[in-house]
Amino acid sequence: MAELVPLTTPLPGPRLTGRSALVTGGASGIGAATALRLAAEGATVLAVDLDGEGLGRTVAALPAEATGGITPHVADVSDEDAVAGAVAVAVEGGGGLHVVANIAGILRAAHTTEHSLQMWDQVIRVNLTSTFLVCRAALPHLLTGGGAIINSASTSASFGHPWMAAYAASKGGVAALTHTLAVEYAKRGVRVNAIAPGSVRTSMTKGLDFPADADFDLIARIMSPIGPGDPASVAAVVALLASDDGAHISGEIIRIDGGTHA
Ligand code: NAD
Repeated sequence: MAELVPLTTPLPGPRLTGRSALVTGGASGIGAATALRLAAEGATVLAVDLDGEGLGRTVAALPAEATGGITPHVADVSDEDAVAGAVAVAVEGGGGLHVVANIAGILRAAHTTEHSLQMWDQVIRVNLTSTFLVCRAALPHLLTGGGAIINSASTSASFGHPWMAAYAASKGGVAALTHTLAVEYAKRGVRVNAIAPGSVRTSMTKGLDFPADADFDLIARIMSPIGPGDPASVAAVVALLASDDGAHISGEIIRIDGGTHA
């Protein structure tokens, strides 16, 4: 006879009470939505970004009823010392570190034949090297009490996104780094996953400057049949991965693209 397995997780309620989280890119778009969502779910969040004014707007947007909080921290996540400093502040302020969401990133579009080395280096450094730096600095703390890392990949890691050579390569690197860390630390209580959004309405996509002669038939290949997503719905997936509801998910690259590549 079939057996009924009782629910073991209390529903509903904040899932991150007592957790300390570091969120990069917290001044805008998906990072801001993530900082707000994690704090609304009870986490003590250190929101890190280059943009201090934007961080102020994120902090001000936190509803009074949120059970967690957000502390702004201005830092460049591609700078090794600044990353070490941000992790130390998160550990100090949150009494440890349990969740890391690497959301900061930049996008530059150009024909590959016109893609400068300087632009390539900048995109790889901000999107990929910073993810490595933050993971490396945070892991010793996550390993003490268990934790979750959520990195930002993109559908460009798996599907051709024209005119985004460095961006796509950086996101492919983030996906590979995510798989590697997930296996390396699986038995030590740290889960490592990545989100892979398609098109999401943020300043990144608003400011996207395709080459003037870009072929829009090719751009249409990466557009969702139901339109771009919103940052809050991506943040909800980050919160799932950060929480115990994601307890058995590790090494996943979760596509959030409104059916674009279904
Ligand atoms: P966004 O431009 O709205 O926000 C990015 C934030 O990162 C900004 O606040 C910016 O100041 C910050 N940042 C950039 N460089 C930094 C640095 N060196 N140090 C610290 N902070 C820095 O962009 P978004 O759309 O919210 O993107 C967030 C992440 O999601 C990025 O990694 C992006 O590649 C990824 N993503 C976005 C989309 C999309 O359609 N918007 C799709 C796939 C993946």
